[in-house]
Amino acid sequence: MALKTLFAYILALFICCSLSAQPAVLPDSLLAHVRILSSDEYQGRRTQEKGNLMAGDYLVQRYRSMGLKAFGDSYVRPFSFYNRWMKQAFNGRNIVGYVRGSAFPGQYIVLSAHYDHLGVKNDRIYNGADDNASGVGALIELARYFSRRPPLHSIIFAAFDAEEMGLKGAQSFLDEPPVPLDNILFNINMDMISRNEKNELYICGAKHYPFLRAPLENPARESRLAIAFGHDEPTATPQDDWTTASDHGCFHKKGIPFLYFGVEDHADYHKPTDDYERIMPAFYTAAADFILNCLLVLDKDWSGIRTGKGK
Ligand SMILES: [Zn+2]
Repeated sequence: MALKTLFAYILALFICCSLSAQPAVLPDSLLAHVRILSSDEYQGRRTQEKGNLMAGDYLVQRYRSMGLKAFGDSYVRPFSFYNRWMKQAFNGRNIVGYVRGSAFPGQYIVLSAHYDHLGVKNDRIYNGADDNASGVGALIELARYFSRRPPLHSIIFAAFDAEEMGLKGAQSFLDEPPVPLDNILFNINMDMISRNEKNELYICGAKHYPFLRAPLENPARESRLAIAFGHDEPTATPQDDWTTASDHGCFHKKGIPFLYFGVEDHADYHKPTDDYERIMPAFYTAAADFILNCLLVLDKDWSGIRTGKGK
């Protein structure tokens, strides 16, 4: 018995040491996801097309390998929608899993990134490396992080489809939520987080939910990136207000607080040149680390932050 206990102790120590020796988010894994998902094989991941289905399957495999929980018997949440602009019906698939919170399992944080992109036009593949294989890579690696170190609140990892067709995946998720909307605390959405020549990453949303700003000041100061708050109020040029520019807009419309992390548009935005080679690895890794730190801070003291009585 004593020998067994000693063995268990040594094993636990070994697991602990090997976990703590790793950096929080592994740069090689992050980059590998982007390289794969933005390769020509995935054909720009346009909703309903083969490359998009492959990307969805890729996510399912990753979720399964790290043991994420599913709502029901599958990570895949199919939906359909009619696109008035294209006068066409489409089928999409959100890929959704979660990690159970250790203290507040019935309260959910939704971490999201869209995995669809524009597909192939005029024989040119729109690989969408920054938009948004980058967000998906971070989603997978943060899921891995939390699957090993459970958060206090449950975290839903939502890879949304059909963002490029008008935030359809996020809309469907909120129309038929896997948990009651009242139990969703907030949304963190990642869309284009892997490059910026000024080393600048934006946090949009704190203008609408001011209590979210103070807790992020410390992680912002500690980040290697220049963190800027903004793009969340009406301006003379409407496209500068990102409040509804990506999937977080659907959460905001339901009154669920959100933070969106992303960069300003670059020369390759929605162009066939948004390729893996143009990713800035150091920037991307720092962005993923920063988002993880923000998530940790919010998870640690959510009720204090929400009520303005935070530590
Ligand atoms: Zn996008």
